[in-house]
Amino acid sequence: MEWYSLLIIPIVLILLVVIRTINFNPTGIPEMRKRHEIDEKRVVDSLSKMLQFKTVSNLDSSLVNQKEFKAFRTFLKEHYPLINEQAKYSEHEAGVLFHIKGESSENPTVFMSHYDVVPVMDGWQEDPFSGRINNETVYGRGALDTKSSLNAVMESVEFALSNGKKFRNDLYLAFSGDEEIFGPSAPAIVRYFKEHDIKPYMVLDEGGAIVSNMFPGVKKKVAVIGIAEKGFLNLKLTAVSQGGHASTPPKNTPITDLSKAVIKLNNHPSFKLKLTPPVKALFDTIAPYSKSFGIKMLFANLWLFTPIVKLIAKLSGGEFLSMFKTTQAFTLASGSDAINVLPSSASFGINYRLRPGESSEAIVKKITKIINNPNIQVDVIVACEASTTSLIDDAYKMVEKAITRTWIDVIPSPYLMVATSDSRHYHEICEHVYKFSPMDVSKKDLGKIHGFDEDISIENIINGTNFYLNLIDQL
Ligand SMILES: [Zn+2]
Repeated sequence: MEWYSLLIIPIVLILLVVIRTINFNPTGIPEMRKRHEIDEKRVVDSLSKMLQFKTVSNLDSSLVNQKEFKAFRTFLKEHYPLINEQAKYSEHEAGVLFHIKGESSENPTVFMSHYDVVPVMDGWQEDPFSGRINNETVYGRGALDTKSSLNAVMESVEFALSNGKKFRNDLYLAFSGDEEIFGPSAPAIVRYFKEHDIKPYMVLDEGGAIVSNMFPGVKKKVAVIGIAEKGFLNLKLTAVSQGGHASTPPKNTPITDLSKAVIKLNNHPSFKLKLTPPVKALFDTIAPYSKSFGIKMLFANLWLFTPIVKLIAKLSGGEFLSMFKTTQAFTLASGSDAINVLPSSASFGINYRLRPGESSEAIVKKITKIINNPNIQVDVIVACEASTTSLIDDAYKMVEKAITRTWIDVIPSPYLMVATSDSRHYHEICEHVYKFSPMDVSKKDLGKIHGFDEDISIENIINGTNFYLNLIDQL
């Protein structure tokens, strides 16, 4: 064998990488923008009215004002005459369901949202429930999360019906009233579907949005559509005292035991990074738009460069890293009540966000082994597995088309949602569960969700309604 024959493999490899990079091009077809003749003032006013109801969820049910929730439901029944005339209305826990009959009941669509909001804390500059409208925005708790999407659903369907729209398939509007506290209304609606053998063809709920600076080298905005979401697992770790006094403390106390456990867990490399299908789908869709040859080369050749991409994820941290792995956050520590008293027991919480493919059971086993201390008890407080991954097919394309008809020059892309939504309950009865909030959000907007001075731009309100109308056109 000649010496230069050794070069064949690297040369072929390099050629393959370069050819794949050159052929790694966007596949999207630009869509013509379509605007609908909606009464924009009415749409904005409706959202303002919705924001004035104090539908604040709280885990402590004595703090929940049921009257406000009931008043909101009454508002939905009075403010939308055509929907209420044509739809069958039912309530499921705090959730509401409108069923509009189409020509067929075979392939129903479900538009989801929720009308509860998280509590307000001190620091708002104005009344969080004013619903104040100015030239550019509507102000109030729930403007972004997510009375805006609920308003867009109701306004678009009411408008479509006023134009004589006949739906080919049944349409359900399903709004929960306790999403923010992981409440029972979305599961109750799913149970209703199961009991009545209703299998939605497509479900659309809040989730991704239109975001800027999503990916290195991509200047265009990206509309990220969740096709799966991470699970979560809340654990409580408790250590009990072997006795002793603070003046003559033993070497090991509940606090030292727990501290050792935290350090072991925090430093353990066992939460492996994995490139799961929804994340791969995101990279395959947006990386071809990157102006950077290096980035395109990496992502066009994930068969070879996945380890490098994982390394970049580790170095960059944040949401990019959390798409690859189960994350672990230490929370809710408690122990002694006084500085001079040893605690009889101490505990802390850990919140895991499970990546697809990693079960809560596997995590509990793994961490029990890592902690390796029989004095520490591990209790599962709540567990919800990562969702399955929805299909990217004709149903997905309908959402994609509604996006490109509403916003010009955005790239729709599948992705993995790292937060949770009520639509996670629908994965077991539907293969096309998509998570997209129809709004263009800045970093500042994202900070307002569950934060202070939440508001939404009028442009987003109008575009959101047009988005649903562009989707309804296809139903
Ligand atoms: Zn929400």
